[in-house]
Amino acid sequence: MSTRRYSAVLLFGMPGSGKGTQGQLLGKLQGVFHLSTGEIFRSLVDDSDDGHLVSDCIRRGQLVADHLTIEIWKHWLDAHIESGDFRPEEQILLLDGIPRTVRQCELLKDHVNVLQVIYLSVSDTEPIIQRLRQRALIEGRADDADESVIRNRFEVYARETTPILNFYPPALVREIDPMGTPAEVLKRILEPLIPVIATVRGSAGEFGGDEITPDVAE
Ligand code: AMP
Repeated sequence: MSTRRYSAVLLFGMPGSGKGTQGQLLGKLQGVFHLSTGEIFRSLVDDSDDGHLVSDCIRRGQLVADHLTIEIWKHWLDAHIESGDFRPEEQILLLDGIPRTVRQCELLKDHVNVLQVIYLSVSDTEPIIQRLRQRALIEGRADDADESVIRNRFEVYARETTPILNFYPPALVREIDPMGTPAEVLKRILEPLIPVIATVRGSAGEFGGDEITPDVAE
C-alpha cells in the first residue's frame, strides 16, 4: 500500500448539485482521474459485512463512518493505481463525494494534497429536489426516490459537510453556479480547473500551454 500524497481537486456540493454528472464529464479529460465514493459504495456487494453496513447508511441517507469510508476509499484508490487507471504523474485526482466531514478532511491529509475545491453552490433547493426525483426514475436510486431520505441527506449535508468549507483556505475554494445545462456548468468549472490541471501535467506538456484536448461528449 502506497503512502504518497496525491494532488487532488474536490468536487463539493449538496446532494443533487451535479457532482456526479460533472465528475463523469471531467473524468474524460486526459489529465483527470475521477473517483466517486457514492459510486464505490453502491458497487459494494450487499452480502459482505462492509457492503451491508454501507448500503444500510445509503438507504437511510446517513453518512458511512469516517474511518470505514477512508479505508474503503484508499483500498479503491490503491487498486486504481495498481491497475494503471490512475496515473498520479500525469493526472489530478478529482474527488467526488469525499470528504464529507471535517474528520474525513483530517484523515485525507495523509493521502492527498488539495489544490482546489470546486464548490457547486446551490441557492434554491427546489430545482435540486426535482433533479433528484428525475435521477431516481433514470438510475433507480432508492435514496433519491424517498422525500424523507432526501430531506435527511440535506440536513446531514448542512450539519456535517458544509463546515468543510472552513477547513480549506478560502483561496482554494472556487464557487460555481451549478444551474444550467451540464455543458454550461462544465464551462464554468473548467475556467479555474484548467490551470490546476496544468500544474500536474505541466511537465508532461499537454496541459502546459494553451492547447487542451478534452474528449468530452455532450
Ligand atoms: P453520493 O452518490 O455521493 O450522493 O453518495 C451516496 C451515499 O453514499 C451518501 O448519501 C452516503 O450514505 C454515502 N457516502 C458517499 N460518500 C460518503 C462519504 N465521503 N462519507 C460517508 N458516506 C458517504
